[in-house]
Amino acid sequence: GKPRVVVVGGGAGGATAARYIAKDSKGDIDVLLIEPSRTYYTCFFSNLYIGGLKDIDDIGHTYGSLAASGVNVVHDWAVGVDRDAKTVSLAGGGFVPYDKLILSPGIDFVEGAVEGWSLAAQNAMPHAYKAGSQSELLKAQIMAMPEGGVFAMVAPPNPYRCPPGPYERVSMVAHVLKETNPTAKIIVADPKPKFSKMSLFQEGWADHYAGMIDWIGEDFGGGNVSVDPDAMTITIDGEETQADVCNVIPAMKAGRIAELAGVTDGNWAPVNGADMSTKADADIYVLGDASAQGDMPKSGFSANSQAKVCANAVRGALTGSKVFPAKFSNTCWSLIAPNDGVKVGATYEATPEKIAKVDGFISQTGESSDVRKATYEESEGWYTGITSDMLG
Ligand code: FAD
Repeated sequence: GKPRVVVVGGGAGGATAARYIAKDSKGDIDVLLIEPSRTYYTCFFSNLYIGGLKDIDDIGHTYGSLAASGVNVVHDWAVGVDRDAKTVSLAGGGFVPYDKLILSPGIDFVEGAVEGWSLAAQNAMPHAYKAGSQSELLKAQIMAMPEGGVFAMVAPPNPYRCPPGPYERVSMVAHVLKETNPTAKIIVADPKPKFSKMSLFQEGWADHYAGMIDWIGEDFGGGNVSVDPDAMTITIDGEETQADVCNVIPAMKAGRIAELAGVTDGNWAPVNGADMSTKADADIYVLGDASAQGDMPKSGFSANSQAKVCANAVRGALTGSKVFPAKFSNTCWSLIAPNDGVKVGATYEATPEKIAKVDGFISQTGESSDVRKATYEESEGWYTGITSDMLG
């Protein structure tokens, strides 16, 4: 029969890979996508939802067009991989065979990463680092804060999904509180001494949200943090604070199925940049956040870029079609306030050791409001583009 590709995870990496293989092989390869959710809520722009600039429906996308373009979409969880038999087992029972397996399961959280927090406490202290109901919960908690209340965030250690994500979130929370609850305070406990686009965010926070945000970095004890979800307290370097909302973003690791497939080394799955195949198994590929690939940040843009390289290589391996040299790109946009957008990005190539950065760019402090507005508009265009590139 036809060669068969199974893709686990219908997000930025997996949906793109499934769509490109189906589209470009014109029916010569069977493509099956396993994804439990019927609606994919993008983490990208989920902070804008929290800031009141998007509706939840704006960031939700269904799989109908992907199915219409020839991908067999199965709504289930992959719960195991038998690498000798080359099958994936499903939570709903049964298993599917593969010739090539592409895993793009995103992230899970490292247990015990923040003292006092566990997944069981994610309703009291949401992470909102997988979008959808967690984003809605965090937003509802922010809107219910008492006048002059405290929003606390525990930021994650490197490496993690979306390096500027926590700081864009702080900006969007400040934006909505400035309108609804201007005497409220934001505290950030951060285990890092510095973060992505730090000078741009700090300049923006001083301009738009003066006096509202207290960022406590590693140098000031920000890494020495514990929480009590029952008492709603956060203790930073020995000092306890009562919080009204506590957004805990724990340390991350590859989505569990990568570990179950035996392709992880520590928290992430090492891959070869030329085709995104794992170091552990030449017929299993890992895309996006779950991979350890080198210099690219864990972003939707990166996952989409890696998926296209992988799709081209997998099709070549199965049908003999032409394989192009691996080239990648990424841009991470962040919104500091309405129309005040900033960005950082780079191009990359595959070397034998890793995906290596070639060239980069970053927004500058002190840019005009016209430049910042244009940068925000660019991110809107990117959002429309990537969601249709993923899902058709
Ligand atoms: P995901 O997109 O998370 O997809 C993983 C999918 O796998 C999920 O749909 C999940 O249901 C499924 N899955 C997991 N396990 C299984 C299993 N066992 N069986 C079947 N399916 C499974 N990136 C940007 O480029 N730009 C941004 O502006 C941006 N902003 C962000 C803001 C926030 C607040 C956050 C949290 C992230 C942001 N990101 C952004 C990062 C981006 O969302 C991720 O890097 C990207 O989604 C990674 O793609 P992925 O394919 O690795 O994982």
